[in-house]
Amino acid sequence: VNGTDRSVVIVGAGQAGSALAFRLREIGHQGPIALIGEEIWPPYQRPPLSKKYLTGELERDRLFLKPAGAYDEAGIELVLGRPVTGIDRAARRVLLAGVDNPERRYDILVLATGGSPRLPEDLSDPLPDNIFTLRGIGDADRMRASFAPGRRLLVVGGGYIGLELAAVARLQGLEVTLIEQAPRILGRVACAETADYFRELHTGQGVMIREGVAIAGYRGPVQRPSAVVLADGTEISFDLAVFGIGLVPNDALASEAGLHCDGGVLVDGWGRTSDPGIFAVGDCARLPLDGRMLRIESVHNAIAQAEHLADYLVQPDVSAYAPLPWFWSDQYACKLQIAGLNLGYTSVVTRRGSKSGSLSNWYFRDGKMIACDAMNDARSFMLAKRWLAADRQPTPEMMADPAWNPASF
Ligand code: FAD
Repeated sequence: VNGTDRSVVIVGAGQAGSALAFRLREIGHQGPIALIGEEIWPPYQRPPLSKKYLTGELERDRLFLKPAGAYDEAGIELVLGRPVTGIDRAARRVLLAGVDNPERRYDILVLATGGSPRLPEDLSDPLPDNIFTLRGIGDADRMRASFAPGRRLLVVGGGYIGLELAAVARLQGLEVTLIEQAPRILGRVACAETADYFRELHTGQGVMIREGVAIAGYRGPVQRPSAVVLADGTEISFDLAVFGIGLVPNDALASEAGLHCDGGVLVDGWGRTSDPGIFAVGDCARLPLDGRMLRIESVHNAIAQAEHLADYLVQPDVSAYAPLPWFWSDQYACKLQIAGLNLGYTSVVTRRGSKSGSLSNWYFRDGKMIACDAMNDARSFMLAKRWLAADRQPTPEMMADPAWNPASF
């Protein structure tokens, strides 16, 4: 079977899977498309789960990416609540849990399986009743049910999800302590200057932040711990705790099928795995970018990579995926917007924005601007995106000069 008549099976009905399915239809793919998800929900956006969905400001229906009828209308077979349990590469079919119609044949198979929260090694699985991780609607619903003013929340992990959870909990009147094992919060993803900004923001809102401290043990019943003991002997009591300590890519299906995996399904610039009929996109895929193999956990990447793959499947002459990554995070009244990838940066220049409280941190690698964190500073974010796309290079000296007008560049 050739080109646009091929049968496409997508495993994972999330952000990337749905973007791929709809893009394929938009650009003229005629063959069958099956979008198979293990969750019971149609594809939805996850960012609000640690933001307005958790505060109750956003209804569940607003999370869904498409209206209910959109899948039928586009001729996309949406299969929900059915995990794919295996890939039979020789017969080009996937196996589904459940008795009804338990397999789908494919010409093209796309893995868009996302990831799962990393679990604390020293706790039982399933987690105790008052300890949470956050990835899906069900996690957020359970957590929301135990968010009540005055309760003591321990957040473990000072990455974006942990910080967002701390903010949302404070806004709802919980007492929040955040602990980070690394020397500082945001250590993996942002510069010290950006971390300083958010530490100050959270501390000002009454969050107690402890950095460079590891958990040595727990106190209380195994099914409902009541405190952690830190390596320095300090005890922190809590009513509930949430771990935001990173994501493990869902690559077991791929590795069991013999595809090359290494901290994610390994793909090339066209999303191709080590089997020419199988592709991977989104959080589960590790792709070549900026001279390295990376996984990019963001909505923008999930969509952009999926759409790039759709284009490639319909028009194989497209060039390799070369995105301009961007990301955002909302904490209290602060909107952080990030353009570019700050990997391997060698210096950072901070600029104050025109509004009070607005600030941008510009990352340079050997004098070349590679990324920007903009806090309440949409203008700097837009400029950074524009300059990165056009490969325009403000120097660190220009950026460091408060009198220099970026708009004139
Ligand atoms: P997902 O959207 O996770 O979809 C994967 C789907 O595959 C899941 O539904 C999963 O159940 C399913 N699946 C897995 N295995 C199987 C199987 N064997 N069979 C069938 N189905 C399977 N990004 C931003 O850019 N900005 C933000 O502010 C932001 N905030 C976030 C906040 C939270 C709380 C979370 C969890 C994520 C946030 N992200 C944010 C990240 C963003 O949501 C992800 O990068 C994006 O969802 C990745 O899309 P994906 O399709 O690869 O994975």
